[in-house]
Amino acid sequence: MKVVIVGGGVVGLTTALQLKKNNYFANSDINIVAESYDDLVSYVAAGIFRVGDDYSGPTKNITRKWINDSYEFYEQIQKSHESSVAGISKISCYMYSNIAPIKHHWMKQVIPVCRDITPNEFNLVNGSWKYGSYLETMITQCSSYLPWARNKFAKKNNLNAQYVFLYCKYKMTIIIYRLNECGTKLLTKKLESLDELYDDYDLIINCTGLGAKRLCNDSHMIPIRGQVAKVKAPWLKVCFYSELDTYIIPGTDGYCTLGGTRDFNSMTTDICQHTHRSIRERCEHLLPSLTKAPTVKQLVGLRPYREGGVRVEIEKTPSGHRAKGIVHNYGHGGYGVCTAPGTSIFAIKLAEDVFKSSSSSSKL
Ligand SMILES: Cc1cc2nc3c(=O)[nH]c(=O)nc-3n(C[C@H](O)[C@H](O)[C@H](O)COP(=O)(O)OP(=O)(O)OC[C@H]3O[C@@H](n4cnc5c(N)ncnc54)[C@H](O)[C@@H]3O)c2cc1C
Repeated sequence: MKVVIVGGGVVGLTTALQLKKNNYFANSDINIVAESYDDLVSYVAAGIFRVGDDYSGPTKNITRKWINDSYEFYEQIQKSHESSVAGISKISCYMYSNIAPIKHHWMKQVIPVCRDITPNEFNLVNGSWKYGSYLETMITQCSSYLPWARNKFAKKNNLNAQYVFLYCKYKMTIIIYRLNECGTKLLTKKLESLDELYDDYDLIINCTGLGAKRLCNDSHMIPIRGQVAKVKAPWLKVCFYSELDTYIIPGTDGYCTLGGTRDFNSMTTDICQHTHRSIRERCEHLLPSLTKAPTVKQLVGLRPYREGGVRVEIEKTPSGHRAKGIVHNYGHGGYGVCTAPGTSIFAIKLAEDVFKSSSSSSKL
């Protein structure tokens, strides 16, 4: 079977990793097609595993499963010898507010520690706060995780090109084995339409994030612009959040992400120096030691938010083509890094069910 994943961000590459683990598709020929593997919103994200109460899939049970599966996926890597090269580590977070107690509807079901803070913990930051909470969670640094994931496919490709020659002593024959028929190729191409792939693949998995707005004519897709600064503050080891989208998140790469902004329906990717000053002021007010942290770079990303929830569903392809269907997996908003594994498992299961049930017929 030939499968193509469209999108080389955290959702596309995680889907490819999950596809390799799935028994039904493991031997498929998998290609990834993306306009870019570098200029991605995934690289702007701090990558904290913190799913907000506004995150939603089609039902509460499915959403819970996406979040649980995602946490399990990252935790398995975090506990393995690959954790540092994959950029996944445990991290603690303190959150402060004067507006209302901070709820963690989804998070408290999955993380080991999620509690109100103690009176002493109010003193960890500047300002007088009425409410606070403490979480122990994980961080996925996309600048490590995405190359790590790509490297996994590259290794498979190397194997693909190799042959084993076995000399059989008794029959005097040479047996040639192709070691791995299922390498993953990463192709760079901007698609104008998904139907460009209909005749070359049996299954198309659409992980194009905000690109789906145009590619699928999906008017529910809305960019939420976010600006951050990466600063050098190696002394910081825990995250801090407060009001007005203020956050301080130490990464696994030695840099700390200061944020942030949420500009609804803004497509501007230019860096705004007023916003930068505001971010620094808010973060420095919360944690005065940050005045000593030089800015290393500034980044802007557009969160691929989808009104009505993340789209993970099957779409029928028109008859007369090789492709049996498109599985959509996009619209993760501000939670794409943390929830990509769960939605990918779900997307692949949808595809598997369809292929199994229609194994006797050629169309959905
Ligand atoms: C400031 C900020 C902070 C964030 N912090 C966090 C966080 O802490 N935790 C978290 O979980 N999430 C966070 N996010 C959200 C997260 O970055 C996104 O949800 C996630 O990166 C979306 O991944 P994606 O793979 O869907 O999209 P992308 O990374 O944008 O990848 C989309 C891919 O599709 C390709 N593509 C699109 N259109 C086409 C086309 N027509 N043809 C071919 N290829 C195409 C692109 O080239 C790209 O390869 C943050 C976002 C921002 C902006």
